[in-house]
Amino acid sequence: MNEKEFISLIRLCVKCGGCKTQCPTYSVCKEESETARGRIRLLHALVEGKVKPTKKFNEKLRSCVLCGSCANHCPLNIDLMEIFYHARTIIKDHDNTLAAAGFLSKLAFKNTDFTINLIKPFQKMINNRLARKKLMPANVQFTENQFKKTGIFMVKNKIGRVAVFTGCTIKHIYPELMFSVARVFNALRYEVVFPTSEVCCGVPFRSLGLESTAVSYAEKNYEIFSKLKVDAIISLCPTCVVSLKKHYPVLINKELENVYDISDFLRGRIDMDMIDDNIGQRRKTVNLKAVFHESCHQRNELKNGSQTRELIRALRREQHDASNPFDIELLEPDKQSCCGFGGTFSVFFNDMSNYILNETVKELDKTKAEAVITTCPNCIFQLSKAIQDKPIYHLIEIIEEAITPQV
Ligand code: SF4
Ligand code: SF4
Repeated sequence: MNEKEFISLIRLCVKCGGCKTQCPTYSVCKEESETARGRIRLLHALVEGKVKPTKKFNEKLRSCVLCGSCANHCPLNIDLMEIFYHARTIIKDHDNTLAAAGFLSKLAFKNTDFTINLIKPFQKMINNRLARKKLMPANVQFTENQFKKTGIFMVKNKIGRVAVFTGCTIKHIYPELMFSVARVFNALRYEVVFPTSEVCCGVPFRSLGLESTAVSYAEKNYEIFSKLKVDAIISLCPTCVVSLKKHYPVLINKELENVYDISDFLRGRIDMDMIDDNIGQRRKTVNLKAVFHESCHQRNELKNGSQTRELIRALRREQHDASNPFDIELLEPDKQSCCGFGGTFSVFFNDMSNYILNETVKELDKTKAEAVITTCPNCIFQLSKAIQDKPIYHLIEIIEEAITPQV
């Protein structure tokens, strides 16, 4: 976006305040400058030369979680996320914190396996220290990419072929979800391919104002995924889906076709009667009261939470087999709210991030659920800092339990 386009975009705001009440940072600080409207006012002042990008000024723009709630509630449908991503490209050269984080991120993401191997001997110490500061959950271990040379899961009598855009959190923190997605799609008779050279989707770089780095990552992923002969590109991470579907056209003027969030792809494709007939083995018995935590990028950008709820309800099978039920009572918190992660937001604004997290966990706890279900690996990471008394499942694990044989 050039400066003229940026100025036109911020001028669209009529200062109605429709974006205010849903903003997680406003809910903590109760300050106008912590709302989308307030941040746009600051940007107006900046482009008109009335203020300079001082430390305090930059902090107000950096303290946005990039959750998309404001854009979802703006009656004029202003592309607020593009405004806030672009704002970071403007302030990055005047902000030491962004510059340092950008430098370290570029190094760390250049070869993530190398970075993980480098910190391996100190992992326990680093984890303990970061967990004490509530920067990460206590039980997390960073892992190298599981599929370095090949990541193809073949199946007999296949009806299709899908590629998985894994994303960094799953690849390096929750790799078991890669096997879950492979098992689920194989059970549905899809061949599954994990492109071994996939790189970061680019969102972390955009959030640090490093647009040209995000462009190079987007180009690389486009090059890899556009050449695959697959029916669909699936992701288990709403943020990655948003990046591939919405950011890539902005960044590289190219769009990958057939990109699906897991809920969108699987809704209507799982026929429990057919699975019951085909499976030939008992499946696991599940009887669970679970609360659904809808991630911000799912709620505000993909807007497909109802598909996820519908999908989970369709997995129930007490009507199929009373002695071996798969019965999930899906509960809802009074209000779906941000987990407070926001990538570097949880590092730069750790107190605010943990405050938002604790408020959200209180809402989830009120439901007295025995488990939490979400579709976002980053939410699992963040929620695990505060929830230790119940499991937090990714949707794919629930589907796996429902449709694969008992082992
Ligand atoms: S993206 Fe989220 S945190 Fe940022 S201004 Fe909008 S609602 Fe507030
Ligand atoms: S809701 Fe939209 S138009 Fe209204 S103040 Fe917020 S950004 Fe501006």
